[in-house]
Amino acid sequence: MDYQAVLEEVAAFARPFAGQGQVADYIPALERVSADRFGIAVADINGAVHGVGDWEVPFSVQSISKTFSLALVMAHAHGDDDIWKRVGREPSGTPFNSLVQLEWENGIPRNPFINAGALVVTDRLQSLTGDASTTMLHFLREESGNPDLAFDQAVAGSEADHGDRNAALAHFMASFGNLENPVPSVIEHYFWQCSIEMSCRDLATAGSFLARHGVRADGTRLLQAREAKRINAVMLTCGTYDAAGEFAYRVGLPAKSGVGGGIIAVVPGRCTLCVWSPGLDRRGNSVAGAAALDHFTTLTGWSVF
Ligand code: GLU
Repeated sequence: MDYQAVLEEVAAFARPFAGQGQVADYIPALERVSADRFGIAVADINGAVHGVGDWEVPFSVQSISKTFSLALVMAHAHGDDDIWKRVGREPSGTPFNSLVQLEWENGIPRNPFINAGALVVTDRLQSLTGDASTTMLHFLREESGNPDLAFDQAVAGSEADHGDRNAALAHFMASFGNLENPVPSVIEHYFWQCSIEMSCRDLATAGSFLARHGVRADGTRLLQAREAKRINAVMLTCGTYDAAGEFAYRVGLPAKSGVGGGIIAVVPGRCTLCVWSPGLDRRGNSVAGAAALDHFTTLTGWSVF
């Protein structure tokens, strides 16, 4: 596969979509980014990385971090965790920050990729490691090979200043006994994780263990193959907000998006992709990013279907 040629063609197709949609503004610090940026990177399972456009420009990973927190909980629990008693694995059919379903379902979030579910996962990671956000940052530095990765304090602070909804979700779950740590600590670590700045290159490389069936960049095993399969399955069914059905229909790959405009996508056994363009559709997925991944699987035939 001539990845560079494929990416050039994908970028030519998708770039006209850059600038469409809305940049997330409910976290004020995210508004600074211009909507027409576009970058895409692919990391193959042997570590070779290719990219086009703004593929080395850092952006706010936001909910893409939810993939890594789930992986780290599974890794630290050594296959023996009760996380799935505390969070489900079904699409929610509700917006990512919705409260209503939680009441009907006794404080058990539908899946780890809506905010409520990610707060439970962060809570578990905090219990397992004593410092959830630093554990994630160190892991991402190692896997991406980029020692300069850092939290964006302005974004984390901005999110905390406007974090009433996430605080409400956490308090609500605590009232059902579904948090192990104090709410302020859980939401703080969650905001720090979301604020990490990474480029498409960093994210495609850091997510390679998902294409390598759980094997890390240094050849050691992070996850059992069946655990990596499970994360990919939940990404496919729940990773792109309330549009995972549409995304599977168009793209057909496990993927996780974030309101910073990034999307990572996995072709198991072959490669991990990351695309970034900050304009979001009304569901919260990058308009140009979804178009790019759609075109990638059309060109290559590499969907999981
Ligand atoms: N930090 C964001 C929030 O909790 C993440 C949203 C997202 O990317 O989906 O609202």
